[in-house]
Amino acid sequence: MKNRSSSRFLTVLLSALCATSLVAQQSEVPLKRCATDYLDSIRIRNNPSLLHIREKTEEAIQDHLYQKSNNFRIASDVVVTIPVVVHVVHNRRDGQIGGANNSNISDEQIASQIETLNEDYSNTSGYQGFYTGTHAVDTGIRFKLAGVVRTYDSRQSFSVQTSDKELAKASPPWATNKYLNIWVCELSAEYLGIAQSPTVTEINPQTNGLVTSEDEAIDPLTDGVIIGWRYFGRNQPANTSSFYNLGRTTTHEIGHWLGLLHIWGRTICGTDYCDDTPRAETSYLPDTPVCGEVYSNCEGRPSRNMIENYMDYSPDRCMSVFTNDQKKRMHAVLAVSPRRAQLVAYATSTENRLSVEVYPNPVGDYLQANVYTPNYADFRLSVFNDKGVQMIGETYNQTYINVKNLPSGVYILRVTSGSETVSKRLLVR
Ligand SMILES: [Zn+2]
Repeated sequence: MKNRSSSRFLTVLLSALCATSLVAQQSEVPLKRCATDYLDSIRIRNNPSLLHIREKTEEAIQDHLYQKSNNFRIASDVVVTIPVVVHVVHNRRDGQIGGANNSNISDEQIASQIETLNEDYSNTSGYQGFYTGTHAVDTGIRFKLAGVVRTYDSRQSFSVQTSDKELAKASPPWATNKYLNIWVCELSAEYLGIAQSPTVTEINPQTNGLVTSEDEAIDPLTDGVIIGWRYFGRNQPANTSSFYNLGRTTTHEIGHWLGLLHIWGRTICGTDYCDDTPRAETSYLPDTPVCGEVYSNCEGRPSRNMIENYMDYSPDRCMSVFTNDQKKRMHAVLAVSPRRAQLVAYATSTENRLSVEVYPNPVGDYLQANVYTPNYADFRLSVFNDKGVQMIGETYNQTYINVKNLPSGVYILRVTSGSETVSKRLLVR
């Protein structure tokens, strides 16, 4: 009797567990891997000039690739290491870090994401599950953690439409021409991630891609990627999704940040400008986290979708490929997109002194500074009036300063890093 009751209890328990797991799995189906195209369409609606900038950007990428194809030595032989700042914007009032249901994710979770990125971008993940071809390459791009910023915010989630601006306000970016900024937060509407695509502008090259007020379409304050905290990193208590649990949402979004498109381009059978990724009708979004063969008919005959490509929507465990053309495109973006190119210049500089350049000067609203510190040493920036009174408090590793509220006049901008200080004279209009 006792045994029967235990066994009935076990059956009930197992049924309940199965039901829970079914519910968990079903509730994952509406998850949307990526909001980048959606956010792009919103940005273009708000700033129609962005469409023109997008076209100019594509022209610049194609020109660069064409020139490289006529050059026997390609720059992509060089390994570029991108410094990453992770902004954890959480709603954990007591500040507790880590655990299964905590948006204030652990340092281990952050480290596991950097590890994933380096494996995926170097083609060393060792994953041989679904994909056994030879298309995967080492992209020559690596990542290193430069800083973690934790910020409490009482909001339960951030809307996809406004998250970029809200997050940039909640946890201001470190110089976006020097670091890849990643904001990790709760995103609304089941989105997993968003990226800001690179642009090429016709701005004076001295500005190194920092924009002026006339060119608000490209916002340096929001340049980076945004990732839902459950999908950041791998094998951690917070990574509870059975589809997206290996950190490849971030691999995908950084692909966008480096100029890659989805394998279907921007429409059914569209182009991603990479000849070695077969055209696809649409994304791979299975009901269960399985990897399978999917075919498209884009060029008069069926061809298998490269569902293993990081730029599809496939479950994380199906992904293992960046192709050679995708590698070349990412390196072209690192060469022609001003903020990305400046990041590479900082990363490869052997200069051993603090240096500071400011734009524009005279300045009306936002001051933008290029601050170089050897070995990514931290710096602080402040602004004083001509009587030596500090008007803007010390900011930490930030280079976009709002001076709208300062009366017209002469000011001194002071940047300090370690024992070095550099001062610049500013004229506020
Ligand atoms: Zn995407």
